Amino acid sequence: MSRIFSGIQPSGSLHIGNYLGAVKNWAELQHKYESFFCIVDYHAITVPYEPADLRARTADMALGLLAAGLDPSKCTLFVQSMVPEHTELAWIFNTLTPLGELERQTQFKEKASREESVPAGILNYPVLQAADILLYRAELVPVGEDQLQHLELSREIARKWNARFDPPPSHEGVGAENAGHRRSFFPEPKGLLTPARRIMGLDGQAKMSKSLGNTVELLEDPKSIWEKLRPAVTNPKRVRRTDPGTPEVCNIYHLHKAFSPPTTVEHVATQCRTAGWGCIDCKKVLHESMEKELAPIRARAAEIAANPAKMRKDLANGAEHARSIASGTMSEVKKKMGLT
Ligand code: ATP
Ligand code: MG
Repeated sequence: MSRIFSGIQPSGSLHIGNYLGAVKNWAELQHKYESFFCIVDYHAITVPYEPADLRARTADMALGLLAAGLDPSKCTLFVQSMVPEHTELAWIFNTLTPLGELERQTQFKEKASREESVPAGILNYPVLQAADILLYRAELVPVGEDQLQHLELSREIARKWNARFDPPPSHEGVGAENAGHRRSFFPEPKGLLTPARRIMGLDGQAKMSKSLGNTVELLEDPKSIWEKLRPAVTNPKRVRRTDPGTPEVCNIYHLHKAFSPPTTVEHVATQCRTAGWGCIDCKKVLHESMEKELAPIRARAAEIAANPAKMRKDLANGAEHARSIASGTMSEVKKKMGLT
């Protein structure tokens, strides 16, 4: 069975962008693949934070992921800082990663532009991410579109490490019988995207992000979701109620595609194009569709929250299993690199 790995930062509340772009997919993929899902707290400390908040957000993230459908009996769910091999392998990969590659990462440029003083951790973030994935020698990484550039760098790091420390023996060169069949030590991980690969924030200005405050939280109550949906940006060219709209350019229509059944999506598009509905009518229907999907998730979250000891145990078991794989990878890596 192929292995998959993916991570999420406890940098704020789990939102519908994370859910539609990644986490909902994780819940499906856990039945098909040997799956590792990680709450990446070492990534989250690359921006300013309060220790007590981080602790609470890590627990909230675990709760949200379990409520969204991750099943600890089907997948390995754990917190990154409980598995020290992540930072150990990251250091090794730092020695192979060109500075220029890190400096041209879009996320680095964006995050660095928001900080007065830029910590090296923001620059090296994708190196730790490569270590997260390759520690489990995962082949597939279910993520949103914003992570594809980092994933390309992970592939490059895997290629570099393999070429330097795990080259094919000379008898396997061109013409050898088994040429092309030998598996590299680190596979080159590929991304797995959902149709909702990039959900925009309700301001329509940027990708929905925990750190930008433009989110709808997965566990948010319906009244508060409506208060955000009602003023949300639609198609700015549709000025009057009687103006026909263009669904394809409207963020609300894209959310319909993620939450509403296909017949409703079709109906919404027609009502928009013919000015049959105003934007508020359209948002009300979206709110109903969202409620159908999100109410059961909130109910599950309430059940899980009632038993925090079980959640702590699940995370401890997850970390223990992750560590058993991670330590195996590290001892082979160290051996091949001449480290003791
Ligand atoms: P931060 O603002 O702290 O970076 P984030 O909201 O971008 O938080 P991450 O923890 O960085 O969330 O990413 C977790 C997963 O969610 C990744 O797979 C990422 O690609 C995906 N993701 C994040 N935002 C979106 C979005 N707006 N649409 C689709 N997928 C997303
Ligand atoms: Mg992010």
